[in-house]
Amino acid sequence: MTNKKMPSMLPYIEALETYETYDPMEVMAERAGIAPEKIIRLNGNENPYGPSPKVAAALGDYQNFNYYPDPGQRNLRRVLSGYLNVEPERIVAGNGSDELIDLLLRIYVGVGDNVIIPTPTFGMYTFSTGICGGETISVERDDTFEIDLEAMKSAITSNSKIIFLASPNNPTGNIVPEAQARALLDTGLLVVMDEAYFEFCGETAIPLLSEYPNLVVLRTFSKWAGLAGLRIGVGAMNQDLATTMMAMKPPYNVNLAAEVAVTTSLEDTSGLLARVTQIVEERDRMMEKLKQVTNLTAWPSQANFILCQVPDGRGKEIFDGLCSRGIFLRYWSNGRLKNFIRTSIGLPHETDAVVEAFRELCA
Ligand SMILES: *Cc1c(COP(=O)(O)O)cnc(C)c1O
Repeated sequence: MTNKKMPSMLPYIEALETYETYDPMEVMAERAGIAPEKIIRLNGNENPYGPSPKVAAALGDYQNFNYYPDPGQRNLRRVLSGYLNVEPERIVAGNGSDELIDLLLRIYVGVGDNVIIPTPTFGMYTFSTGICGGETISVERDDTFEIDLEAMKSAITSNSKIIFLASPNNPTGNIVPEAQARALLDTGLLVVMDEAYFEFCGETAIPLLSEYPNLVVLRTFSKWAGLAGLRIGVGAMNQDLATTMMAMKPPYNVNLAAEVAVTTSLEDTSGLLARVTQIVEERDRMMEKLKQVTNLTAWPSQANFILCQVPDGRGKEIFDGLCSRGIFLRYWSNGRLKNFIRTSIGLPHETDAVVEAFRELCA
């Protein structure tokens, strides 16, 4: 033993709670006696069709993985400019949109500052705010998960810096109406519209960028383009903010494999969007089937997932029942969502298995 002491940590880092984790799916499946290839994994809103088939070929052919990527993201920003219809100077690519959320917070939020979010929403906003020593002010959505505009506005303090709005919202599936986005932009705070599921609904705040210098729009290739494992997201914003973000980001934040994959995906948008259409059709089919399940309420969704409400007090039991059938969905053990389970939209046979399991478990 030594009596050397650890240097003290920043108190707000030391106080962080571990992001909610589960046993790995393989472990849960083995416990349930389910073969790994029989597992239905619909807990991450990932794309069941995978990346464009052209991506694997392009990665295999690429010759220059021994070089660092371009810290100025010249090629990436150019191709992303075409995707977003925004000038390259107003674009920053990130290691997933999660990294862009983190970079925005580090630009604007320090100890004593706060961020306002309409909850329930995506967990990363709170997580990354905590890492900056900031506080999250959570404003409950109303009974139908719409944003309570007046409550949002009255939650603002002199230390408020950012409002995060996911549209469509994860996990509730509804979009932020333009009038609400404008009202929140008019507060003058930085408003981040996180459009991770844009391709599944077609509604975007990109046209508002020219009107509001305090607007940032985030997109990702994780969901519609099937590249979650390669980590690539993009933000569009006013040019000064983009310049600052380019200066403070880790120089090689987006790796070359991700760059090759994005470039190739954007050469195959028609193929990828055909799959998005299939997923949307499957979502609508699943919704119709879920509506037939007794004791279950399926919330309307404009994204690639559906939030299911089960009877009071039975969330954990139904989630465990799904796991024991080899079906892994998203569950929240506490708070307003403890009677809710979110399912991603998978392949048709997965839809049928999930609906059948809910039918048995909710009876
Ligand atoms: C999935 C998701 C993201 C994360 O995207 P990455 O690009 O994979 O980091 C961001 N925002 C919301 C609302 C999401 O659901």
